[in-house]
Amino acid sequence: MKRIGFIAMSGVRAHNEELTKLGLTLPGFVERNKQIASLPSLGLLTLAGLTPRDRFEVEYHEIADLRKLPELPVDFDLVAISTFTAQFYEACDVADHYRRRGVPVVMGGITVSALPEQTRQHDVSVVLGEGEPLWPEVLRDLERGALKPIYASSTPGRFDLAHAPMPRFDLLDPEQYNRITVQTSRGCPHRCEFCASSILLTTRYKVKPVEKVIAEIREIKKIWPRPFIEFADDNSFVHRAHYKSLLRELAKENLRWFTETDVRVAEDDELLGLMRDAGCQQVLIGLESPRRTSLAGIELKRDWKARQQDYYREAIAKIQSYGITVNGCFIVGLDPDTPEVFDEVLHFVRDSGLYEVQVTFSTAFPGTPYYERLKREHRIIRDKAWELCTLFDINIRPQNMSVAELQAGFLKLVKQLYSDDETSQRRREFRRRLKQSTNFRKPAPLGTELLAA
Ligand code: SF4
Repeated sequence: MKRIGFIAMSGVRAHNEELTKLGLTLPGFVERNKQIASLPSLGLLTLAGLTPRDRFEVEYHEIADLRKLPELPVDFDLVAISTFTAQFYEACDVADHYRRRGVPVVMGGITVSALPEQTRQHDVSVVLGEGEPLWPEVLRDLERGALKPIYASSTPGRFDLAHAPMPRFDLLDPEQYNRITVQTSRGCPHRCEFCASSILLTTRYKVKPVEKVIAEIREIKKIWPRPFIEFADDNSFVHRAHYKSLLRELAKENLRWFTETDVRVAEDDELLGLMRDAGCQQVLIGLESPRRTSLAGIELKRDWKARQQDYYREAIAKIQSYGITVNGCFIVGLDPDTPEVFDEVLHFVRDSGLYEVQVTFSTAFPGTPYYERLKREHRIIRDKAWELCTLFDINIRPQNMSVAELQAGFLKLVKQLYSDDETSQRRREFRRRLKQSTNFRKPAPLGTELLAA
């Protein structure tokens, strides 16, 4: 029996000192990042689910702090590591720790797929792209003591989610997680220049069959009877008919959940009603900018987001009228952004009635067309400084303001947006509008279905 340690890097920390200090006094500001950092690595749990139990023993660990590394077991026959971009170098330190002890290491995920050469320098095997179709080969090679340096599919991005395994949620310590992730789809039809997830793992949008999603949720409920689910999708609801079927089934599960989507959901009242009835609490939408000029050109193909800009306020109001809060995400430092953009974001947030807001720096992630373009234009502040890819550190030189102006404008904006007054005003406004809405229906109390069963 071979032993495999699945190790996820967690706990991304910004390096920007002023923002770190602010985070302590403006908790709302770092909330979403904290939530992401505390989610388990669904990718590793999925690979664990593909690992035959009769041939392998598996363990799942997370490392937020490298000082804890010596506490982890070393008696593994293989260690599989996944990481956020900002912790790439720490993940490499973990790999070095195991390689020095003679333990083979395999690394994968979006960042590693974007940086195969750099990763290979740590004497590890690299899995490129989607892990599921390649993992059985890794296991076979492990058993015969002949791991390859690189695992790559001959048909990248073609994994059919109908064959997705049940993730090993049972490997998680139930006390440590209050949000559990489930993937219902992979990919996104938009091709934002700065987005790695829509290009590095899959070439097309694909969905997981309804019965598989429901089976995962039921598996989660065996461990967490009243879970809060976060759908680990790039963009849910793209295939409307499929999602309507899924939502009808989800409604029977008595859940609360969150997902990421785009403003198109607001066009479809039936969909919004089904989302409400299925327990959707919040949707996160990458609005990116209140400025049409800043939205122009952010996608590689169409200017879809720029064309939606006039519709943003109406879409937010419609979605929220169903009792589903919108977390609107804005990026500052986009090429057309001038120092006026900070006030424009503030005013948009105020008069759109957004319940929640997230503002981040425009960040060049490895493997993206954005990184390549800015590198050609000599606008990457420090090449390969992946630790700055936290979204709260600046790794690019903006085009129409200085780095100092970007930093100062951002600080001023987040202080305003996340002040107690501003936050309570957003909450109050949401509730005021909801009272007047005929689309809202109070959800059934959580757990009633379980009690009745
Ligand atoms: S809409 Fe979001 S997920 Fe889709 S390509 Fe743009 S950034 Fe990526």
